[in-house]
Amino acid sequence: MRRTPFTPGERRALNAYQGVLRDRHRLKNVSRNWRRPRKKRCYSCHEVLSGYEFNRDITTKDGLTAWCKYCERERSRRRAEKARFYIALGEQAARERVEAIMRKRGEL
Ligand SMILES: [Zn+2]
Repeated sequence: MRRTPFTPGERRALNAYQGVLRDRHRLKNVSRNWRRPRKKRCYSCHEVLSGYEFNRDITTKDGLTAWCKYCERERSRRRAEKARFYIALGEQAARERVEAIMRKRGEL
């Protein structure tokens, strides 16, 4: 018996579901047999640290983040700082635009 070929839409759905099953299998394996590595080198500061100095990340092969806790903390702090800086910059630009309009109208 000849099977009717899958349409592109059906094939996409099948491939997506295959991916879901693969991910579920991988996550299950990680949580069941996972052992925290004793030592690991941080990809940011390049220091060899204890496995306890890395956060958990189930998407990586060894189950830990590439960067140590301290570097991750530093990065998120810098990101927040940058965001605050750009927000302030936007507020300043908006204020300058309003002031320019007021000046033009002779109201400042
Ligand atoms: Zn580090």
